[in-house]
Amino acid sequence: MAQRYYIVGNWKMNGMRTALPEARAIDRAAQRLPKVEVAVAPPVTLIAAMREAVENIGIGAQTCHSAEKGAHTGDLSAAMLRESGVEFVIVGHSERRADHGETDAMVKARAEAVQAAGMGVIVCVGESEAQRDAGEAEQVVARQLAASLPGSADRLSVAYEPVWAIGTGRVPSIEDIAAMHKRLRSALAQAYGEAGAAVRILYGGSVNGNNAADLLSVAEVGGALVGGASLTADAFVPILAAAA
Ligand code: PEP
Repeated sequence: MAQRYYIVGNWKMNGMRTALPEARAIDRAAQRLPKVEVAVAPPVTLIAAMREAVENIGIGAQTCHSAEKGAHTGDLSAAMLRESGVEFVIVGHSERRADHGETDAMVKARAEAVQAAGMGVIVCVGESEAQRDAGEAEQVVARQLAASLPGSADRLSVAYEPVWAIGTGRVPSIEDIAAMHKRLRSALAQAYGEAGAAVRILYGGSVNGNNAADLLSVAEVGGALVGGASLTADAFVPILAAAA
């Protein structure tokens, strides 16, 4: 069966309403590329406006709290995000882990809350540069994954994002990506049995229009999580085209 790549833009803390024309341009490109599943996770402030502006791309959030409601100032529950118009949530991004002290246990609880609210979830994992240099990348990431995964594989994707490759212009070798994705695939089989085979494993970290085709051709790479190069249609659409 032909693979349908899942290409997700993570806008992080970028984008005012003036960015909506970029979302519309990405949406028009996605309409021309039905073989690619395209999604964008804008800042929460843009979710409602983006919902109005696009028809062909999924809309997601970049994190959520695991509780349904309560005294958690500034946080949003999965149900609130769903009501605001998103279909999926990214959890455990390394910037959340670093900036907000999100642990594997918190990531797992958040992922389960997202699934319970009926949405897709993308669980992010990845090693630091020191861990890669020490030859520990695969063990570290497999451990992180096992502790971060929700109990069910329902609507689950995993994003392998080496921390040192995010926003740096550096990417691991094709061989290292292939080895890591193979390891993650077997970890998913261990966690979920046969259901693990349906979980998409995305690569993330300095993906752009020049390297996307090579990265997507690696075995077990089912798509990409894209930061900087997802902010404009000029940068993002060539990645979508490489996935078509
Ligand atoms: C990310 O932060 O998820 C990411 C992959 O960023 P970039 O593409 O900018 O490296």
